[in-house]
Amino acid sequence: MDKLYLIKIGEIALKGNNKSFFEKKLKKNIKMSLKGIQCTVFGGRGRFFIEAPKESSRVVEQVLSNTFGITGYSEVSRIEKDIDLIIGEAIKLAERNIAEGIGLNFKVNSRRSDKGFAMSSYEICCAVADAVLDRIPGLKVDVHNPDWAINVEIRETAFVYGRVDKGPGGLPVGCAGGGMLLLSGGIDSPVAGYLMAKRGLSIDAIYFHTYPYTSDEARQKVIDLAGILAKYTMGINLYIIPFTEAQLRIKEKGLEKAGTLLMRNAMVRIADRIAKGKNDLALVTGEALSQVASQTPESIRYTGSATDLPIFRPLIGMDKQEIINISKAIGAYRTSILPFDDCCTLFAPEHPITHPDFERMKEEFDKLDIEELLIKAADNAEKIHLSGVYT
Ligand code: ATP
Ligand code: MG
Repeated sequence: MDKLYLIKIGEIALKGNNKSFFEKKLKKNIKMSLKGIQCTVFGGRGRFFIEAPKESSRVVEQVLSNTFGITGYSEVSRIEKDIDLIIGEAIKLAERNIAEGIGLNFKVNSRRSDKGFAMSSYEICCAVADAVLDRIPGLKVDVHNPDWAINVEIRETAFVYGRVDKGPGGLPVGCAGGGMLLLSGGIDSPVAGYLMAKRGLSIDAIYFHTYPYTSDEARQKVIDLAGILAKYTMGINLYIIPFTEAQLRIKEKGLEKAGTLLMRNAMVRIADRIAKGKNDLALVTGEALSQVASQTPESIRYTGSATDLPIFRPLIGMDKQEIINISKAIGAYRTSILPFDDCCTLFAPEHPITHPDFERMKEEFDKLDIEELLIKAADNAEKIHLSGVYT
């Protein structure tokens, strides 16, 4: 037996001429996440449906809860456009809600996009509410503050549904092109990747690994985080950069208190090279203003100057606690707080500069004579693919 879900879309519905581009992307993304499950996704013009086997409903609901572009979804009954059949479904739905004990106050919403149907939306609401009240004693209509609702839509056929579960909103991944996320093992960067994917950016990730100063566990932790993100981003390619030689060069030749900034600048140069090689349109980092020494306006200006791609920093105005809340909600937090250091903490200077002089930093960077090492590191990246398919 198959289950049918109605899918609601938010911002996509506001798109003008490009709407079908966004809608096609959304359908494709849902199908891709459910690869291996026999399902059909259909509809358009503001309403989508997915039909899938009942046994797969847990996975289908997970995908609908996590797919950007979806604002809500609901299990729905599809029936003929006959008011008695509609009332029959409405009563079944009401009885289920009563059995679950979710309250006695309800309302009926109705939409009629088929204007050929004999009753107006208002008449449908009244007929359904009267029949439900007749059948189940003790119920009350409360249009302002109901405990639950019965929704009726008259389209090419009739649909009846109750509770609408929340989707994540945003826009379908891929509709804004590709971006490269600088993914460390921390709390912030996975959240940054999630938020940019929510705006339609297709995300790949790059991690700078300073073996043996950073451990295999630290590397595995980043792979795990990429795997968590992949479920929201339709899969991820993770580029692991052998960063040890570059890091040691900075340690050896760089101004000690500028170590973190020089390193960050080097990271951005490598990310720029890989991103451009695959036609990505932007870089993404987890920086938040004033969170640490390397995230003051002067520091951000300097590290950002290593690329001419835009750097998206969706966390720039957020407090740590706000970031943690999102990290928990997307299932990344427990992995992010595992105690394996990334390279930054190990090589961090004791008294880092917080207000670097831009021209002075350029001179300091030139002294490293590091360009060739960075190209070598980029070209020796190890690429791992993390699938976004749900099982
Ligand atoms: P996070 O929690 O993401 O590690 P953070 O608050 O620890 O961030 P920093 O360590 O200053 O901040 O790093 C700032 C940003 O630089 C990170 O959000 C990430 O985008 C990038 N970054 C830092 N270290 C690495 C690394 N080893 N590999 C890839 N990107 C990194
Ligand atoms: Mg960090």
